[in-house]
Amino acid sequence: MNASSISRFAPSPTGRLHLGHAFSALCAHDLARAKGGHFLLRIEDIDPTRCRPEHVAGILEDLRWLGLAWDGEVVFQSKRLPLYAAALDRLKAMGLVYPCFCTRARIAAEIAASAAAPHGPDGPLYPGICRGLGEDERAARIAAGEPHAWRLDIAQAIAQAGRLAWCDSGGGEIAATPEIHGDVVLARKDAPTSYHLAVTVDDAAQGVTDVVRGEDLFAATHVHRLLQALLGLPVPCYHHHPLLTDDKGERLAKRAGSPTLAAMRAEGVDAGALVERLRERFSFPFRGGG
Ligand code: GLU
Repeated sequence: MNASSISRFAPSPTGRLHLGHAFSALCAHDLARAKGGHFLLRIEDIDPTRCRPEHVAGILEDLRWLGLAWDGEVVFQSKRLPLYAAALDRLKAMGLVYPCFCTRARIAAEIAASAAAPHGPDGPLYPGICRGLGEDERAARIAAGEPHAWRLDIAQAIAQAGRLAWCDSGGGEIAATPEIHGDVVLARKDAPTSYHLAVTVDDAAQGVTDVVRGEDLFAATHVHRLLQALLGLPVPCYHHHPLLTDDKGERLAKRAGSPTLAAMRAEGVDAGALVERLRERFSFPFRGGG
């Protein structure tokens, strides 16, 4: 697809969409349309334990109700696993990923036993238990069928990639500090990829020029920027929008019982008026997360 701007909405079908999703989709849609570009829809359904086909149908229904038409075919990450495997293989060949056999309990015990466990944006960092395993032990445990994830050796990866930055609307040039995440998982035990790897590969493969998403994902961009550098992928512009909150300042996504778009539709809410109200909340450029 060749266009001046290509943006995407990339929901995970783990539940019904709510107003926060509508806002995100609308931001991505309007940004592309304002530049005469394309708006893509990608279903991020790599988590077999949480994604449900009925939620995919719900997402399509909700977007149609809002009047947000996407361009081209809907892309499903679950159908693109060989692409992610190929990217992981490249990182394996570069010696930048290692198998991690740890259970959650093992990691938690190690963290509890350490005097000062470093924390990242998503909680305590992986304490590196499997990083130092020898090649023979790794190979033997894999051959024995022991379940394992694949982690990025973040220090090695940064050493190889050097200094990196990305452009965030409103925030200008942001220096990438992927070390804040520690050795992130790039392929899970229960899924052959992870959010970080799949989203980075797909944004490049789909020619996305403008990544529009909530500022809750701002920190993840540090990892995505590093993966782009390692895999030789183009760097899109990022637009991390503020998250919608209720009167008490609580995030809609987190609030228990936050009304879904389906419920609003059932109550007879007018989609056109809703979209216009959401548009009034826009303040491009977004203020650049942190
Ligand atoms: N699939 C992610 C989510 O639903 C969003 C991914 C992204 O926009 O990068 O939270």
